[in-house]
Amino acid sequence: MIERQGDACFYLLYEHLSAEANLRHGVFTRKGGHSAPPFDGLNVAQTTGDDPASARRNQAVVARAMGLPLISARIMHGNAVCVVERASAAESVEQMRDRLRQTPADAMMTAEPGLGLFWGFGDCAPILLYDPRQHVVALAHGGWRGAAGAIGPRTIAAMAERFGSRPADLLAGVGPGIQACCYRVDEHVRATFAAEPLAAEAAVFEQRADADGQTALYLDVTASNARQLLAAGVRPERLEVAPYCTGCAADLFYSHRMRRHADGRFGVVIGLAA
Ligand SMILES: [Zn+2]
Repeated sequence: MIERQGDACFYLLYEHLSAEANLRHGVFTRKGGHSAPPFDGLNVAQTTGDDPASARRNQAVVARAMGLPLISARIMHGNAVCVVERASAAESVEQMRDRLRQTPADAMMTAEPGLGLFWGFGDCAPILLYDPRQHVVALAHGGWRGAAGAIGPRTIAAMAERFGSRPADLLAGVGPGIQACCYRVDEHVRATFAAEPLAAEAAVFEQRADADGQTALYLDVTASNARQLLAAGVRPERLEVAPYCTGCAADLFYSHRMRRHADGRFGVVIGLAA
């Protein structure tokens, strides 16, 4: 990935997406920002215990770096996909932002320039999609529940239906998310994947002995989402996977799983330049 130092932020770009002239995107690290420990520094979540004023300032840092207003649907840890667009010509960006905040979805897509699709992540893998032919962007929230519900392929199907996007045209970026080195799960998680054939086929579980010698089950959230995208028709050379585990890279990212009691979320944005 390509590193970028911004004003009060340090973020990463997927290499293939960075070459697209009309695209804005960024995977923000926790470096920079205004949050005090243990949320230091660029925490974008107002709901995990940080001072909400700090989180709002940090969101403003992200918006400024991207040059786009930030739009977020309400995450439900499901697999619904929503279209982000003005309800009428008279609707302002602020009105749309307030409306979307009430819209339950774990993936957003838009063909409207000038909007930054945005969420905070802390182990769940972000999935960024760009169709350079139809000029459509999407952001999906690939946690274990999203992955178990095939959120990536569902987003690609929704882009095809709504905008005529073809999977082979898409540029995709996945991660950072939590990987099998850090993410122990129980059998309920594997059973949930098993209920969705595409998710079960692409899932990357690992079984190994834990510290007390018991066999335990681990999940690679990033790789599971990435393999689903390939199964849905994304070409391997157009898929880029972030080489970080959020559990391991504590200096760069937040991790709900590893620092459960006091931690933030790192911001991810994709949008079409205005
Ligand atoms: Zn790890």
